[in-house]
Amino acid sequence: MIGAVRPHISPMRYDLHCHSTCSDGLLAPGEVVRRAANRGVDVLALTDHDEIAGIAEARAAAEEAGITLVAGAELSVSWEDVTIHIVALGFDPAHEGLALGLEQIRSGRDSRARRIAKSLADAGIRDAYEGARRYVTSERLISRTHFARFLMEAGYATEMKDVFSRYLTPGRPGYVPHAWAALEDAIGWIHAAGGLAVLAHPGRYKVTTTGLRRLLAEFRERGGDAIEVLSPSHSATQVEQFAACARSYGLAASSGSDYHGPGESWLDLGGLPPLPAGLDPVWKRW
Ligand code: AMP
Ligand code: MN
Ligand code: MN
Ligand code: MN
Repeated sequence: MIGAVRPHISPMRYDLHCHSTCSDGLLAPGEVVRRAANRGVDVLALTDHDEIAGIAEARAAAEEAGITLVAGAELSVSWEDVTIHIVALGFDPAHEGLALGLEQIRSGRDSRARRIAKSLADAGIRDAYEGARRYVTSERLISRTHFARFLMEAGYATEMKDVFSRYLTPGRPGYVPHAWAALEDAIGWIHAAGGLAVLAHPGRYKVTTTGLRRLLAEFRERGGDAIEVLSPSHSATQVEQFAACARSYGLAASSGSDYHGPGESWLDLGGLPPLPAGLDPVWKRW
């Protein structure tokens, strides 16, 4: 074998969670794709909140950049009294049932935003609805992120994480309860459109250990496919914990940066390490 060189095949780099100006990201869908390609991502899923309007532009940019674009969305769901996020991957973006479901979720956002503004006004912060609207980049979607940007501009905090710990989260001014989609409906729409349902960033939910077990069991029972083991919001311990959960619940594993834009994210596109060994990667299922 003298002189034979073992070819070096670098593993494909997947980033299956990020946002564009079609929801609360700072870059247009095409810009997100070009940035991902420049950073070595081979397979990207654009997963805007409750929205698929950016997929066509992202797909065209991906073709030009020579990378693979997976259709994605991040669905807002109410489970028990907690808001959870379900990432949908690899569906047919032309499927009407999913589009209607997403429209239904989005339709509650404006009245929620007005209630958020009222709650902030009660705490002495005026005109927050108009302030947040100035940061909205899609008429179809207003999120807490837009309020967070307004609150920073108005000097209530200098960092995103501080805005959320002081405002906009349960028990704080600017947080209002809201009924999102039911878990069974969200998974049903995703599957009807031929996609896979991924429990996003499980480490971010304020649930007890038994609550998390109930959530994973119900997610699995309702046909959920995978959990996001790798997310920048997870500590090393949580990565191990969720890798173990994926194995014991028979769920596939996903990985996503949850990138929102320059200066606003924990991690850039493609910045996560490979999945821990011994997991069933979600991309093997499409
Ligand atoms: P919404 O869907 O309107 O409730 O907004 C949720 C979005 O708020 C998330 O997708 C994040 O972009 C942002 N967000 C929530 N919590 C935090 C946090 N602690 N730090 C930064 N961004 C956050
Ligand atoms: Mn977001
Ligand atoms: Mn999320
Ligand atoms: Mn996200």
